Amino acid sequence: MKESRYGFEEVLEMVVSGLTVQIDRSKCAGFKDCLGIAPGILDLGDDGIVRVIETEGVDREAFLEACSVCPVDVFVVLDEKGRQLIPR
Ligand code: SF4
Repeated sequence: MKESRYGFEEVLEMVVSGLTVQIDRSKCAGFKDCLGIAPGILDLGDDGIVRVIETEGVDREAFLEACSVCPVDVFVVLDEKGRQLIPR
């Protein structure tokens, strides 16, 4: 997992079952919309901000659906060829 900062944003980047995922932690408000769709993949940390808890062998469709429902676009997801899947 690679961590970097861009201005006031805090963006984590990781690979989840071949998908490159960028999580802008500064946007997450803990609404939990995403958690019910991908239990076992996403969870809230002790800081109340979303985190990925499983990166291998996950249900990609469930993960993409979970990322797509976030009302504040915390997630940017790219496929193996660098095409943006989320936000759509
Ligand atoms: S990532 Fe989005 S949907 Fe998930 S807890 Fe954070 S704000 Fe809510």
